[in-house]
Amino acid sequence: MINRAAELIRESSNPVIFSGAGMSRESGMRTFRGEEGLWKEYSPEQLSSIAGLRENPGLVWDWYRMRLIAGENVVPHPGYHALTYLQEQKGYLPVITQNVDGLHRLAGQTDVMEIHGSMRTASCMDKCGFSAQLTAELFHTGPPVCPDCGAILRPDIVLFGEPLPPKVISRSYELAESCDLMVVIGTSVQVWPAAGIPFAALESGAAIIEINPVQTELPRGDRVISIREKAGEILPVLTGFKERT
Ligand code: NAD
Ligand code: ZN
Repeated sequence: MINRAAELIRESSNPVIFSGAGMSRESGMRTFRGEEGLWKEYSPEQLSSIAGLRENPGLVWDWYRMRLIAGENVVPHPGYHALTYLQEQKGYLPVITQNVDGLHRLAGQTDVMEIHGSMRTASCMDKCGFSAQLTAELFHTGPPVCPDCGAILRPDIVLFGEPLPPKVISRSYELAESCDLMVVIGTSVQVWPAAGIPFAALESGAAIIEINPVQTELPRGDRVISIREKAGEILPVLTGFKERT
């Protein structure tokens, strides 16, 4: 199975990566679902919605500050470097990610579609146009405030009830429909509409390699290879990156 997957990756002329929270697990970011999922402790409505942010900016920003500070020590693991290696080999490797941690870019991947936005920047909630890098200093005196108009800032992630960025989504579907191979890494394939992306690839005739220690909603079949391993351990092997180091 691993040999077949490595061969598919080698032979693919047009691969696309689709990643979820499991891709960052070995970098120290916690997943939302599964055994140690974040939602067990916090309510998504409180922490990840515009209403929650307006009602209780102190609580919501405390949580993001915690994630940001926790995330400061988060660095890409060997699986991320393996993808950068694959990008060098292929010359071009688009990445579609549900993650908001920015690790694909940090590892050197250059064409990254962040369909749920990014935690690395914040902008004015009243849309006056202000936007800045999200740094720990912004939180000195409570929830960060827009220096231009005084409104509360918001993280640039897609919050519950908000639409996904239309251009990023349409490009993601274009890529899914035109790739010959999609490598689906660390996603429970449960969060829609993002979960539709691997299904679109499959319907358009692409092969799928899934990397996830547990079984997901992805269908079985001739064109789907499921590898029940951790991303950080198996991606270096599948891409040939490990032999180089
Ligand atoms: P999910 O939490 O629903 O599922 C994570 C999946 O990763 C699970 O199926 C789990 O079995 C698998 N997994 C765990 N460890 C793994 C490993 N080492 N290697 C490979 N797979 C592993 O994640 P999702 O499908 O991405 O959906 C969650 C939503 O939450 C996303 O929309 C995302 O925006 C957000 N989120 C992002 C981050 C982040 O940016 N790092 C973290 C948590 C949640
Ligand atoms: Zn403003």
